[in-house]
Amino acid sequence: MAARLASRRKIRSETKDGTRIHVMGNIEFPNEVEHCAERGADGIGLYRTEFLYLQSNTEPTEEIHYDAYCRVVQAAQNRPIVIRTLDLGADKIPRGYRHLAKEGMNPALGLRSVRLSLRDLPLFKTQLRAIFRAAVHGDVRIMFPLISTLLEWRQAKMIVGDVLEDLEERGVDFNPNIPIGMMVEVPAAALLAEEFAEEVDFFSIGTNDLIQYTLAVDRSDPAVSSLYNSADPSILRLIKMVVEAARKKNIPVTVCGQMSSDLKSIPLLAGLGIRQISTTPLAIPEVKEVIRHLTIARAEEIAAHAMTIDVARDVESYLRGELYKIC
Ligand code: PEP
Ligand code: MG
Repeated sequence: MAARLASRRKIRSETKDGTRIHVMGNIEFPNEVEHCAERGADGIGLYRTEFLYLQSNTEPTEEIHYDAYCRVVQAAQNRPIVIRTLDLGADKIPRGYRHLAKEGMNPALGLRSVRLSLRDLPLFKTQLRAIFRAAVHGDVRIMFPLISTLLEWRQAKMIVGDVLEDLEERGVDFNPNIPIGMMVEVPAAALLAEEFAEEVDFFSIGTNDLIQYTLAVDRSDPAVSSLYNSADPSILRLIKMVVEAARKKNIPVTVCGQMSSDLKSIPLLAGLGIRQISTTPLAIPEVKEVIRHLTIARAEEIAAHAMTIDVARDVESYLRGELYKIC
């Protein structure tokens, strides 16, 4: 196993016709950087920082954040790391934090994620300060989850401005010049991707929530799991819109939801123009393998044909068949 991983580690993630598609890892804990590196990840495309809040019943201090981020930076060895700010609420409510994310009738539509950060500025600023300080040591980027409106994005950026002033006043080492992007996981954000693309440094499409909110299907409710499908034509169209908006402004787009570890979706995503994928560590070698069997021309044909199919089930079986032919 170790030998097999080592042999795959160095394999470049590029198509048969030489297009580079970066494959990065999604992590929750700093020690998972190792798991990504040994599978040949090009970086950490999604660092879910909620775990810091699971460790105790009190909020993590700036130093606890900073230590965790420094561990990730050190393990990543100059590869990029996208740190997502807190995404608490709905499916992610640690014990002891229920006072922060009071459950309403519809927690998925309630006070969660970046909405919560914007309501609790000390909590948000503590995390941001630690990220800018850790960014002195490596290629760190910040990503805000669940951005739904431009106003929300601008408010978050304004808080970043305040935090940079605080750090300046404190006279500590920090790196103010790091890319700041957003997750596209709410249909409203995908629909306004052109406007967002004027202001953000990058997009990362969170298909888990994007599917939930587009199809109105609770992502964690087994009673409706058969309705939850990444191959739905509506999802394909939203992804295409985001890629096209990003292309016009020349900003990168990653897909970091579960869809990126579903191998039959890889040719489709490549064909839609995705050049960065962030996936669970275990899936990294297989995702790279599929990419290496592809040509961009074939991927574009697959995506174009998939876009003509009007039912998720038929898109899925088409993609399954194409994956079988490719690999
Ligand atoms: C997503 O929604 O696709 C995503 C990557 O974020 P999370 O699964 O952590 O909500
Ligand atoms: Mg999400």
